[in-house]
Amino acid sequence: MKIYLSADIEGVCGICNWNETTLNKPDYEYFRQEMIKEINSCCQALIDQGITDIYVRDAHDSARNIIPSSLLPCVKLIRGWENSPWDMMAGLDESFDGAIFIGYHSESRSNHNPLSHTMSTSINHIKINNKKVSEFLLNAYYAKLKKVPVIMVTGDLGLTKTVKEENSLIETVDTFTGMHGAVIAKHPDVINKAIYDATIKAITTLKTKKDELFLMIPRILETEIHYRNHLDAYRASFYPNAYMISSDKTGHKTNDFIETLKFIFFTI
Ligand SMILES: [Zn+2]
Repeated sequence: MKIYLSADIEGVCGICNWNETTLNKPDYEYFRQEMIKEINSCCQALIDQGITDIYVRDAHDSARNIIPSSLLPCVKLIRGWENSPWDMMAGLDESFDGAIFIGYHSESRSNHNPLSHTMSTSINHIKINNKKVSEFLLNAYYAKLKKVPVIMVTGDLGLTKTVKEENSLIETVDTFTGMHGAVIAKHPDVINKAIYDATIKAITTLKTKKDELFLMIPRILETEIHYRNHLDAYRASFYPNAYMISSDKTGHKTNDFIETLKFIFFTI
């Protein structure tokens, strides 16, 4: 079995401030170590299940958060940005059996995570078919195109509820409860044990119910990006097949999710 992990930081245990997410800020180092610990809790469970073909994609900000030597020896690390629309999912292909998202977070402007955003902190939000979307949803749709089911997601409680609404078979671990600008977090040891246990369950589900784990991608995708700066909306309206919805919103309609990802990649 071959497993792909995509790891972010804004959903690791107890994180609540941008200084804690930013390379070279003093508050960052602790949460970088927590991100690594949560990845390792998951990888250790995979290894204990006999799975050693594991790729970890560092998918936060610089994509240089994970210290290579701090991973378990069989794990391969994908660092840096490819500069493609596949973004947090770079390197995923049809050879993988399952995908896991660690440290993920609620969609833009959610009260469930002080650091909530979708793909960029300089836009208000992205909607698809009138629903605000998270990075989880965009990346799970992309994985589906590669015939890889998402089997587990960890992050804030708001996100894990969203995941369960999409597909209750996906294992989740909530790493904290958001309260607008604040969070309530359990002890990291409790969270890391929960990640280990949930990974074991996720592999069992993958082995027994793989076909039921996939999300359904809508047949028609009407994407709307709501910009903070209305001039960005005007600029984006020149993307092929894009159109202005209002002075600060630009839309794009397609039946091909790859085209949706390209629209988002080139216009945020
Ligand atoms: Zn991030």
